[in-house]
This record gives sequence, C-alpha cells and structure tokens, in this order.
Amino acid sequence: MTAKPDLLSMTIDEMKSLMNSLDEDLYRGKQLFKWLHSGILSYDHMTNLPKKLIGKLDHNYIITNLKQLRLLQSADGHTRKYLYLLSDKNIIECVTMKYNYGTTLCLSTQVGCKMGCSFCASTTGGLIRDLTAGEMLAQVLHVNNALLSQEYLPIRGLVLMGSGEPLDNYKNTLKFLHLVHQPEGLNIGYRNITLSTCGLVPEIRGLAKEGININLAVSLHAPNDTLRKQIMKIAQAYSVKEVIDASRYYFDKTGRRVTFEYALIDGINDKLEHAKELGELLKGFPCHINIIPLNEVDHSDMKKSNENSLNVFIKTLELKGVNVTRRREMGLDIDGACGQLKASYMGAKGK
Ligand code: SAH
Repeated sequence: MTAKPDLLSMTIDEMKSLMNSLDEDLYRGKQLFKWLHSGILSYDHMTNLPKKLIGKLDHNYIITNLKQLRLLQSADGHTRKYLYLLSDKNIIECVTMKYNYGTTLCLSTQVGCKMGCSFCASTTGGLIRDLTAGEMLAQVLHVNNALLSQEYLPIRGLVLMGSGEPLDNYKNTLKFLHLVHQPEGLNIGYRNITLSTCGLVPEIRGLAKEGININLAVSLHAPNDTLRKQIMKIAQAYSVKEVIDASRYYFDKTGRRVTFEYALIDGINDKLEHAKELGELLKGFPCHINIIPLNEVDHSDMKKSNENSLNVFIKTLELKGVNVTRRREMGLDIDGACGQLKASYMGAKGK
C-alpha cells in the first residue's frame, strides 16, 4: 500500500492541480493552503470548503499530525523545548527562544543524523530518516498554535539547527523554506531564517544559487583539517579551505554574511594558538563567528571550556579584527543542546 500524500508538503500550485484532478474549482487550492498554514489542521474548522471536497481530501490525503509528548520550559521562561511523536512513532524535538520581537523556532530536519560529530547528541543512533517538508512545517504550525494559546508571541524567525543535517535532506528542506515563505501562509522572510550546516560543500554552493537569501551558519569548530577531523567526520570529505571557499561563494552570491559556529571544547580546540589560527583564517572575510560554550552531552566525555579560556579566545579574535559574539546559553536546564531531550527521554524510557 502506498502512503497517502501529505497536504502539508504541498505548494499552492500543487494544491491547485490537486483540485483540478478532483474536478473542483482551482481557487479551492488556495483556500485549503490558507487554512492549513494558519494552523487549522482539522477539516471541522474549514468552513468555506464544501463537504464533498472534504470527504475526498480526507479519504485520499493526510495532514501530518504531531503528538506532543513533552513540553519543558526553562526557569527564566525564555526557552521551551517540545518533544513530538511522528505518525511512524519516531520522535523529534524543537526549541523556541523568546525574544522581544517575537519567537524563534529551532526545528529538526531529520530523525537522527549521519554526520557523526563527536560532541553532538543527535547523531549517536545514526540517521533514521529524512523529515518531509510537511513534517518540518508541522513543527512550526504546532508550536505556533501552542504559543498562541499561551499568549506567547508567534514565530517570526526560524533556525534549522535542531536534529539532522538540513543539507543532507536538501530537496525537502528547500521545499519547506519555500512553503514558510509564502505570503498566503506564514510569510516568514528569508532574512529571518538561518540554516546551519556541518559544511556540505557542493550543497552550500547549490544553495547559493537557489535565489533564496537565507542566512547561512557553518559549523566549523576547528581552524585546521587535522583538528577538525578529530571531532567532525565530515572533515574527511571536505577541507577547511573548501568549506571557507564555499562560504565565500555563498556570501558573494547572496550578500548574506555567513556565521561560523565554534563550540569551545576544553583542551581540544580552545587554545590560544587555535584562536590565532582561526583569526588568520577568517581575517578580511565579512563573516561572523559565534562562539558556543559546549553543551556537555551524556555519550561524550568532552567538557566545556572554562570562562578564562572562553574570554581569552574571544578577545584574541577581536584583536584580529574578526566579528565575534558569544552565544547566549539558553535552556541549559531543559537539555537545550540538540538531540539532548530526545536522548534523555529515550534513556528514561529504557530504564
Ligand atoms: N547539522 C547542522 C545543524 C544541527 S546542529 C550543523 O551541524 O550545523 C546545530 C549546531 O549545534 C551546530 O553548530 C552543531 O555543531 C552544534 N552542536 C551540536 N552539539 C553541540 C553541543 N553538545 N554543544 C554545543 N554545540 C553543539
């Protein structure tokens, strides 16, 4: 039996073709799209659609549904972590961060991940499967509904930094970006979207040519190949130079400043010499370095750097004239690092 198509994965044009194939007026496609993307995920509330059409849709299509398993809130109330069950019983997680201008959602693009970064909790069980565009969109819609029911500000920005490697699920991720940008739907500006990648060079170059000027964040974590290979499996496929060259290309094509993420790991990549090398590497490139204090995870004995190393590292980069900030540590008390909540949930279930 083939799986029924998911309406949440469809563009307006695809919905119009669908209406055509069902012998319905084409404008019904836009009506359906608007309902779904406003967070109305049940036919009961779609008051302007004929009953006969709803019957056909219900019979032949699905609307991806996420079941909320857990909601955790940080003590300061600014960060929330949602754990969702997918229809095939896989589990994904996403995180909201509340800012003055609205909420930013950090969402997942895959169940698990095959990239194998040694410090990351999402990759321990490997890749289970790609998420569909509809499953990515469902995270935004479900979280938005939850936020609005609690008088929270709606989602204004997206970061693709949850579980998974978005560029390893290129087609679905791109479709999702297109869907959330639709003016008839969530209308989220590309400038308010950041995609984070461990550095898949051909896909970064491909993304640069898509004509969507989203922000790109590249997980660098080391200033040279020897060190990067120790902590990131992907470094065996692409050199630091290739990653930086692709990032420059992205900047040249899109005009969007690239962010390099660098998690400071005690005794591994946090020495003065590393900061100097990183500064040299990125000097003159209009980019931004985001220093992340490592989130310690269960499966690894890597520790976060102490405050002194952190400050020296940042200062050294500043002296080189590089634009650098320290990432705010939000939600540490609720397993804030990607893959951590799922890992602790699964661990607790296993006990
Ligand atoms: N696969 C993508 C996006 C998911 S991870 C990527 O690699 O960029 C999002 C960010 O969190 C990446 O920069 C990743 O390297 C970082 N990260 C993963 N585990 C971490 C941890 N334990 N502490 C700090 N940052 C971590």
